Amino acid sequence: ERTTVLITGCSSGIGLGLAARLAADSARRFKVYATMRDLAKGERLLERLGGRCPDTLELLQLDVTDPCSLAAAAQQVQGQRLDVLVCNAGVGLMGPLETCSDQAMKTLFDVNLFGAVRTIQAFLPAMKSRRAGRIIVSSSIGGVQGLPFNAVYCASKFAVEGLCESLAIVLRPFNIHLTLVQCGPVHTSFQANLQRPDPEGSEMRGLDAETQGLYRRYLGHCQSIFRDAAQEVEEVLPVFLDAIGSPCPPLRCASTQLLAPLWRLRLSSPDGSAYVRAMHDFVFGGSEAGGDQP
Ligand code: NAD
Repeated sequence: ERTTVLITGCSSGIGLGLAARLAADSARRFKVYATMRDLAKGERLLERLGGRCPDTLELLQLDVTDPCSLAAAAQQVQGQRLDVLVCNAGVGLMGPLETCSDQAMKTLFDVNLFGAVRTIQAFLPAMKSRRAGRIIVSSSIGGVQGLPFNAVYCASKFAVEGLCESLAIVLRPFNIHLTLVQCGPVHTSFQANLQRPDPEGSEMRGLDAETQGLYRRYLGHCQSIFRDAAQEVEEVLPVFLDAIGSPCPPLRCASTQLLAPLWRLRLSSPDGSAYVRAMHDFVFGGSEAGGDQP
């Protein structure tokens, strides 16, 4: 029997790539429910699959911020047992904290954190009653370590990590495996879609010159990281495929070792100051602004 997989955020990026890969599986091992806010954007996925919808794929409308849309999607899938749920929908927000509007922060949490909570809530009862299932959640490197000028994004992904780690403990007796996938930079629409103030724009008015300078340097750092070290979607898919296929997937897995040395520093020096210093040096080069060293 086919493994049924429902994925959120399939109109672009990792969700689209994963849906296409599973739906095109040569052994036809999967039935994929590829969900997205706007079904018109399903064209891209269909194009990827040669212009027609194979019987291994079904497109469903799903906005993770809209409980009615979630209930309708869950209703459609009901009857078909759902083996794997992939909570992948997510958005970004970058910039000096002083520039993050209340509305932007609320929207970010509504998608990244509450969207994942609502999606899991919608499909968990059926998995529990079957005592089987997998939940895979797109976290981020920013879900396990703080990144400059991504404070609110990291807060949302740290929240997702805490949510899932807590839930995994309860799900153990139900034979439901939960896996957090930490991607580093990946070439998707994420960068284009993320909210980010223009360093020369009006949002910067009133912000101190030093923070403005750091922000400009950070944007330069991001550009070079994306140019030199970002992965293609195809490179991160194996991590998701392992979480779907392996008999006992781990709670956390990373798609890249890019920030692994800094991550280890965070673990080996739990008071956090060594991490803060090293990350500052990594991004801003040198610690002239450190000023906190005895
Ligand atoms: P992307 O922007 O291409 O894909 C995100 C998808 O989520 C989009 O299709 C978008 O339409 C969808 N989405 C946004 N709001 C939604 C909502 N309310 N309901 C349903 N869908 C919604 O970017 P991506 O890189 O493929 O992102 C996928 C996941 O990977 C995200 O959770 C993101 O935080 C995470 N991630 C991405 C990167 C990266 O560098 N690209 C790095 C680490 C983690």
